[in-house]
Amino acid sequence: MGGAILVLSGPSGAGKSTIIENASSKIGDYYFSISTTTRKPREGEIDGVNYHFVSREEFEEDIKAGVFLEYATVHGNYYGTSLKPVKEALKRGKLVIFDIDIQGHRLVRAKVGDLVTSVFITPPSLSELERRLYSRSTDKKSIIEKRIENAKEEIKAICEFDFVIINDNIERASNEFATISNASRLKLSKRELEKLVANWENS
Ligand code: ADP
Ligand code: 5GP
Repeated sequence: MGGAILVLSGPSGAGKSTIIENASSKIGDYYFSISTTTRKPREGEIDGVNYHFVSREEFEEDIKAGVFLEYATVHGNYYGTSLKPVKEALKRGKLVIFDIDIQGHRLVRAKVGDLVTSVFITPPSLSELERRLYSRSTDKKSIIEKRIENAKEEIKAICEFDFVIINDNIERASNEFATISNASRLKLSKRELEKLVANWENS
């Protein structure tokens, strides 16, 4: 059986990173796709662990070189998913997890939708999102305001996703995410289903 892709999207501050970290021991063997971004690192973020941090020039070179499976401008910075490590992980039959925005989800669906399961994560309300962004205290007020404005648009894409997790309780949300992750491994691609049907009568 080949690998599978799980796309995780939701407003900045929804709890995506916290949920992945909390659920990681319950998901089994997976590969987390480390994105490339032109955003400046936050305090505590490590290059090559949280993101590959690059300049706009480097990112634009990579676009020209066809490095990305998808990329988008989010909150005024470039973010992109490199194709090569994803392809390698899929070849090894792994579940590949993407933390990408709603534009990235659309692009990945259009390219490899057959392999994709998707989940949208949101706090129970906009005011709770605002509270979390301020209490995380990783971004300036102007950046937080921009993220809150964008969240009002992002939530409108919720119907495009296979699953929704309301992150009002981190334990419950992490368990739901682990369940969805493990189920997404079992999704068979169209090619695998056709093979199954072809062999079904004759074996
Ligand atoms: P994202 O990766 O989606 O941007 P984070 O995982 O950084 O979001 O979470 C944003 C903030 O909200 C962090 O400070 C995190 O500790 C906090 N947080 C996450 N989930 C919950 C929850 N269920 N209840 C309260 N705070 C939460
Ligand atoms: P942050 O700056 O808070 O880490 O991320 C901001 C937003 O960018 C989040 O919605 C996150 O999901 C999204 N993002 C992170 N990596 C990628 C990527 O490779 N591609 C796309 N399209 N979005 C990304």
